[in-house]
Amino acid sequence: MTASPLLVVGSIAFDSVDTPQASRENVIGGSGVFCSYAASYFTQVQLVGVVGDDWPAEFRQVLASRPIDLAGLKVEQGKRTFRWHGRYMPNMNDRETLDVQLNVFGEFQPVVPETFRDARFVFLANSLPEVQCKVLSQVRDPRFVMADTMDLWIVEHRLNLLKVLKQIHGLVLNDEEARLLTGDAHVVRAGRAILEMGPRMVVVKKGEHGTLFFTQDQTFAMPAYPTAALVDPTGAGDSFAGGVMGFLASRGNVDDHLLREAIAYGTIVASFNVEDFSLDRMRRIERPDIESRLSQFREMLRI
Ligand code: AMP
Repeated sequence: MTASPLLVVGSIAFDSVDTPQASRENVIGGSGVFCSYAASYFTQVQLVGVVGDDWPAEFRQVLASRPIDLAGLKVEQGKRTFRWHGRYMPNMNDRETLDVQLNVFGEFQPVVPETFRDARFVFLANSLPEVQCKVLSQVRDPRFVMADTMDLWIVEHRLNLLKVLKQIHGLVLNDEEARLLTGDAHVVRAGRAILEMGPRMVVVKKGEHGTLFFTQDQTFAMPAYPTAALVDPTGAGDSFAGGVMGFLASRGNVDDHLLREAIAYGTIVASFNVEDFSLDRMRRIERPDIESRLSQFREMLRI
């Protein structure tokens, strides 16, 4: 199998983040950004998203400095980029959203450039299910599509989300979202119930407790890499998904064995991402750093 590029569609944002120790204002963020950056350690990324004309040239450069094709990045003149402001509780796991300004993201009509339409690996990062459907209708013959979602869409856009679930191969969501989607408080049963809704694999993220992963044939658990240097959890889920999908696209194939390896890579990339604000930690690493932490992780998991 040959390596494939990964098509990523998601939010591109100015993030403001408060943790109990420190704060950052208007830093580069968004689900599409964290995912693309993480995937770019493994394969060529094709990003589709929208920003306003307030999006600075240096943020564009941060993405362009990696193998991330920005032909699908639309700039809306005279409009503002999506903004998100979150605050973490002292446990650094729970957070509250203080402000969301959808701006150009609220009316996002994704257009997948012709050169991206043959993508075989697709990640639909967190965005309206309707937007995710529009993307899928433009991709000709995808082999493996994974999507992310969130509580707001599960509650307020449920029917469209159920339509998305029928068209994708993998879903990644956190434990609370899995409970909300299925109405089952037991996370293992909830994960298995989602398999009945369409996707053939489901990854349930449990924050610092790692991930559970379900297919028809297996249930698999992987702990998080226990980094002591937690600074900002924002984008952990997106960088995890970027690592998983980037690795699978780089192999051009998906099977149960590759999925386990992909989840390990996603876990490691996410563990770097949370060690600083925004993309700051990921900007200081290269693929060998990922490989060396993965070897340490394998050693930790040996029973
Ligand atoms: P995570 O920590 O993995 O949940 O991802 C946080 C990122 O999601 C931040 O960079 C936000 O800009 C972005 N984000 C927050 N709310 C939304 C939303 N409603 N739609 C898309 N992206 C969002």
